Amino acid sequence: GALVTANPSLWLRVWGCFFCLFFGRRKAGILPSLEDLLFYTIAEGQEKIPAHKFTTALKATGLRTGDPRLKECMEMLKVTLKTTSDGALDRHLFKKCVQSNIVLLTQAFRKKFVIPDFQSFSAHIDELYENAKKMSGGQVADYIPQLARFSPDLWAVALCTVDGQRHTVGDTKVPFCLQSCVKPLKYAIAVHDHGTEYVHRFIGKEPSGLRFNKLFLNEDDKPHNPMVNAGAIVCTSLIKVMNFMNKLAGNEYVGFSNATFQSERESGDRNFAIGYYLKEKKCFPEGTDMTSILDFYFQLCSIEVTCESASVMAATLANGGFCPITGERVLSPESVRNTLSLMHSCGMYDFSGQFAFHVGLPAKSGVAGGILLVVPNVMGIMCWSPPLDKLGNSVRGIQFCTDLVSLCNFHNYDNLRHFAKKLDPRREGGDQRVKSVINLLFAAYTGDVSALRRFALSSMDMEQRDYDSRTALHVAAAEGHAEVVRFLLEACKVNPVPKDRWGNTPMDEAVHFGHHDVVTILRDYHNQYTHQEGSTAKKNEENLDGLL
Ligand code: GLU
Repeated sequence: GALVTANPSLWLRVWGCFFCLFFGRRKAGILPSLEDLLFYTIAEGQEKIPAHKFTTALKATGLRTGDPRLKECMEMLKVTLKTTSDGALDRHLFKKCVQSNIVLLTQAFRKKFVIPDFQSFSAHIDELYENAKKMSGGQVADYIPQLARFSPDLWAVALCTVDGQRHTVGDTKVPFCLQSCVKPLKYAIAVHDHGTEYVHRFIGKEPSGLRFNKLFLNEDDKPHNPMVNAGAIVCTSLIKVMNFMNKLAGNEYVGFSNATFQSERESGDRNFAIGYYLKEKKCFPEGTDMTSILDFYFQLCSIEVTCESASVMAATLANGGFCPITGERVLSPESVRNTLSLMHSCGMYDFSGQFAFHVGLPAKSGVAGGILLVVPNVMGIMCWSPPLDKLGNSVRGIQFCTDLVSLCNFHNYDNLRHFAKKLDPRREGGDQRVKSVINLLFAAYTGDVSALRRFALSSMDMEQRDYDSRTALHVAAAEGHAEVVRFLLEACKVNPVPKDRWGNTPMDEAVHFGHHDVVTILRDYHNQYTHQEGSTAKKNEENLDGLL
């Protein structure tokens, strides 16, 4: 079995094969369906795919079996497995299970997600998690009993990419209150509902340079920004509905701690003071009942999430307002962009400037120890650990964010083109060779000589073969790209007589498809070549025969 191998790059090889079947119009017959290709990829040469093998392979891509986008597939799998005696799927049953979600599954297994090599990325995250876990400094907030009761050992990181790939490590299922992490969310909701212009009639956009709960307004008698208490209280007066929170979290856990709400209200003298000051300075829309707005503010602080569910909220921000796992548009692009800008400049209390400098990502922290971190267009992350540093940020959370950006080129101003030492998890590390064969053959197929020149210049092996032992010369000859054929022969000095897996040479291709100009080029070159270097050509052929 040519396809029998446990090679992780098999999918690419299968696709390489598909590529040639398709573009080379070889032995065409019937093109395999996406379902077939998926089956071969996962089956690795076996007749059947055991169910656990499928789910394991699925999880390796970062998808969860509980992903709402895979509902049909998982339901069909459950039903289908009951009809089997061995819990394994043959090609027919497999197709039946995957067909309703084939687009997402194909993307996943073709490594088309934003983090193609999700397993190795997750392993890096686990290392960063372990590293931060060692940190023991900081104080758990104790101004209310609901926060004081948390163990300082709690530590969790959860992430969700814009393609809905999930990874979690640590105490990611323990509920805690968003506290100030809710501030960017309600600001986003306010802008989504009313637009930027209206919201900023009431609130500024500038870092305050002052503690988050300072009783202070800017020169225009407005709160400095929506990430400090005064701004967030005014923001609260602009929003109405709460079902946004569930949508942001893709219907994962969102709760409410009534006890926290009561305690916040009882201990909230400063916030009341701010409320009265805002009222005096006419900071609210007309007709606002300030005390009920304060209640709503305390309630929003008391919304509970888990690290897991909050990572989906962060991912919705990373994904321009679309929830990655439900596909629902929750927030307008404008509201998300505003929110990320202000998180970037004002999200981390009096550490915001330094965080923007060192980490270069939008984030918002809260007094419960959460840090909602966004890697725009890539992923959302929630870090949670209750011990806080002097500025009120989670000690382990800050360590994790800093380490993440030292490892990966996620800083807003990291250069992505000439990446130096940092990892770029957005690129596929995997099998470079297979990728380069596909690029090479594609350029040959389309007749793109300038791409081929670039490849040759970057010392790519121009004689590379795909899974069917086809070379660029085969493909160019079959397509009748005379200039490509000449370039490959004369400039790259490729072997003019390679045999593919069916024994065909480029000459066979040119003859078969009636490209007389190519036939002439190949014949002339071959004559000259055998005259001058007959022995080498012969040797090439012999070597080739040995290989095949
Ligand atoms: N409930 C707290 C307050 O409004 C939130 C503090 C915070 O997370 O920054 O003072």
